[in-house]
Parts: sequence; C-alpha cells; structure tokens
Amino acid sequence: MASRILIVEDEIKIARFVELELIHEGYEAEKTADGREGLEMALSGRFDLLVLDIMLPGLNGIEVLRRLRKESEMPVIMLTARDAVMDKVSGLDAGADDYITKPFAIEELLARIRVALKRKAGNVEEKHILAVGPVSIDTDRYEVTVNGENVELSNREFELLKFLMMNKNIVMKRERIMNEICGYDYMGETNIIDVYVRYLRTKIDDRYGIKFIQTVRGVGYVIKD
Ligand code: CA
Repeated sequence: MASRILIVEDEIKIARFVELELIHEGYEAEKTADGREGLEMALSGRFDLLVLDIMLPGLNGIEVLRRLRKESEMPVIMLTARDAVMDKVSGLDAGADDYITKPFAIEELLARIRVALKRKAGNVEEKHILAVGPVSIDTDRYEVTVNGENVELSNREFELLKFLMMNKNIVMKRERIMNEICGYDYMGETNIIDVYVRYLRTKIDDRYGIKFIQTVRGVGYVIKD
C-alpha cells in the first residue's frame, strides 16, 4: 500500500510542487497551508509521515510538532529556512526526525522521506522486543532472556516483568500493577504482587547477580535503565 504523506506548508508553490512529486513517486499526498488544520489532519492517523514547514499561519510548525508528539510518533521532516539554526535545534528538540533547508532539491527530500519511512517500518517490526539492561523479552513469543540465556517464567511473572519493562523508569504502585496483572475484579491483597516480584527476583536478580527490580518502599516497584 502506498505511504500517505501530509504536507503542511503555506508557500503554495512549494506545497503544490512537493505534492505532485510525491504522487509521481507513488505516494499518496495531501496538503494544507494552515498549522492548526495540519495538526488535526496529522492527528487523524491517516498519514504515515508529515512534511512540516516552521513558519505557518494558525499555529507554527514547532508548536504543531510539540502537540503532535504528545499523541503520535509519526515521522516528521521539518522544512527550515536557510541559516535558521535555532529553528533546526527547536525542531529536533520538539521531536522532528529530520529537517531539510529551503530551498531544497526534491531528490534530497525524497531520499529523507524514504529513510524516515524505512526507520518507521523497522520500529514496528522490532516492537515486540523489549530490552532493558541484560534482560530482553519477546512479547509475541513469551520468551525471556538474561545475558542471552533463556529464563522460564510463569504467565503472571511474565506479565509483571513486561509491565515493569514497558514502564521502565516509572515507579509503579502495587495497586496499579495488580490491576494490570490480576485484572480489575481481583479482590485479593496487593501483597500478591510482592510474591510475584519475589519469584522474579529468584529467577533473574539472584540467579544473575543483578539488581533488576527495585523496591520503592511503601509505593511499589520500578525497573531502571
Ligand atoms: Ca512558511
């Protein structure tokens, strides 16, 4: 299926030119000249990549990107004016994947788009692998390895480990973990979580001599990078 690309650019000639070139290359392309409308379109989930100008009416490109990044990881290539170093820095800070300076050769933009789309496809494929330090889990195959060695876990141990790894560096309260692992209708005590953590520590921390799952006294647990 053709990748769909959104162009948010108020210089009509540039927008039209880029749109035609993209269509010529086999992409689906749409454009808007307004930042606010561009943000709405980008958030619609209909597009695979965003080409975003910085100086825009409605809402400037940096602000569009900041708001977009709260909800979406879609690749974004910023269009910046020549010598606008601050724009590049703010753009990358706000989460742009790449930028290109105006005036640009269309081949250069097309090349960057291919790279960004490829990177995105790669991320999706790798998403079922979670790795923190020496521990890596395959969420499709329910496999866990520590230092490359397979570790057998029960279903709930696996779910607990996965949940903490997905939320690494965030302290997870016992109640929150329990809802996640045991379901919201579970009526038992939250110390069931302490029991599962103990099992995990036996299989991972103790066996490999690491401190992987950390206790935050009175609150819950965290796995840190
Ligand atoms: Ca502009």
